[in-house]
Amino acid sequence: MMEVTALASGSSGNCFYVGNNNEAVLVDAGISAKQVYNRMEELGLDPGKLRGIFITHEHSDHIRGADVLARQLKIPIYATKKTLQNGMICSEKSLFRTIIAGKDIKIGRLSVESFSKSHKAADPVSYTIVGNKRVAVITDAGYACKNIQEHISNAHFLFIESNHDDKMLERGPYPAYLKRWISGDTGHLSNRQAALSVLECASAELQNMVLSHLSQTNNSPEVALETFHSLLKERTGFRAKIDVSDRERPTPLYVI
Ligand SMILES: [Zn+2]
Ligand SMILES: [Zn+2]
Repeated sequence: MMEVTALASGSSGNCFYVGNNNEAVLVDAGISAKQVYNRMEELGLDPGKLRGIFITHEHSDHIRGADVLARQLKIPIYATKKTLQNGMICSEKSLFRTIIAGKDIKIGRLSVESFSKSHKAADPVSYTIVGNKRVAVITDAGYACKNIQEHISNAHFLFIESNHDDKMLERGPYPAYLKRWISGDTGHLSNRQAALSVLECASAELQNMVLSHLSQTNNSPEVALETFHSLLKERTGFRAKIDVSDRERPTPLYVI
């Protein structure tokens, strides 16, 4: 049994929970510790089960609550060396654990796989957490590189970045340089990029996907879902359920 939820996801804060009966981890802690506790309580989850926080990269929407959470719960923060050096992640350095992308970390009966991706940060990674199922958490990527394609293809449960709609970004209020970065190779996956990579790579074993890291300005849940449904209907026999995460509230607790 595995329990999975996005406690928050969006450009303003990201925090994903993946656990089994005995232990659990967070991927990123981009909302306050208080919000993490409140949202876990809402879902009946026990913070006492948390064994670590796995940080993807040093941007504030991924690390905001990590310092307080790690110190209060006395749990380690896992990240690459460059991420730990480049972000104000935690004041208690003894809680740092350095990971190397591609080397698995065992947390009780969970195994955490990390892999590099393309994003404008010091040394960004994404994670797949493996228990009796494989849960991939993939956000903040400029394009679906080989590593991302591989982890999508092996996933039973997938959080996939669906950051922006191309037209909404193009016509929206952001300055030109920001538009160029977001849509470029070190920016964020658009609805279309994300849907196409799922269309090309996902296996018949994929049960659920949750569209994540939606931009408040350049996207909406309806537009993102519409893009996914219209592209994925090309693929016969594809049955994975598609939901959308939210910055203000957790998704339901998925038990897989
Ligand atoms: Zn982000
Ligand atoms: Zn980022």
